[in-house]
Amino acid sequence: MFSKILRYNVFNETKVELFRYLDQFQKVNIISGNPEVLYNGLYDESLFAKCNSENSLIIPDGIGVVLAAKLIKEPVKEKIAGIEVMDSIIKQCEKSEKSIYLVGAKQEILEQCLLNLHTKYSNLIIAGSHNGYFDLNNCQELIEDIKLKKPYAIFVAMGCPRQEYFINKYMDELPSKIYMGVGGSFDVIAGKVNRAPRWMINLGLEWLYRVAKEPFRIKRLGVIPKFLLKVIYNTYIIRKE
Ligand code: UDP
Repeated sequence: MFSKILRYNVFNETKVELFRYLDQFQKVNIISGNPEVLYNGLYDESLFAKCNSENSLIIPDGIGVVLAAKLIKEPVKEKIAGIEVMDSIIKQCEKSEKSIYLVGAKQEILEQCLLNLHTKYSNLIIAGSHNGYFDLNNCQELIEDIKLKKPYAIFVAMGCPRQEYFINKYMDELPSKIYMGVGGSFDVIAGKVNRAPRWMINLGLEWLYRVAKEPFRIKRLGVIPKFLLKVIYNTYIIRKE
């Protein structure tokens, strides 16, 4: 059920299985395990500990992680994109009248995202929302609002590692079941950024599309080869010694 990639347990079943597996948690932090998150976690003790805690579930989000799993000969059944998991959870929430809460992005993006969600899922209960620009150590009003509204799922779109810090800091005291860092997903839902065409996603080229659209991302791509080299080093050099 899990591939051990650089000391992380990465879920290696299908998306359908993932939803079955989620049932067993009382509270769960779904972590979009892309090379950036996993590589940064190696150098951040508290992030690493949370990624490996019993309330966390890492999904293989990103071609770099799918490749890493192949390299260690513990392949994952499929890449599971965080934004698609978010979409499925939202659909389930709409059907079962469970509420969601959104934290993250710029105010105008968040507002457009809320409008688009209301249009697409007319029965969805959005218990509350807050933009992503606030002091993580001084946001008691937001935390109290979440406690009051008791949403079933909280989606946090503030980029890595800020969204992970927020979830790690407050998850224990909040009443929700699902916590998920979703990066730039609110920008996608708001229509500000498009996802790559399906054929590029299927070929594992979503990263190329994003860099072509937003060239400033090229610097962040450097983490993919570093991550893969580390996997190769740990698998074929350290293990052999
Ligand atoms: N963001 C935020 N607060 C911050 C910094 C960023 O809410 O202090 C938001 C930003 O507006 C954007 C998202 O976080 O909506 C970051 O998206 P990015 O594309 O960097 O994430 P990725 O999908 O690459 O992880």
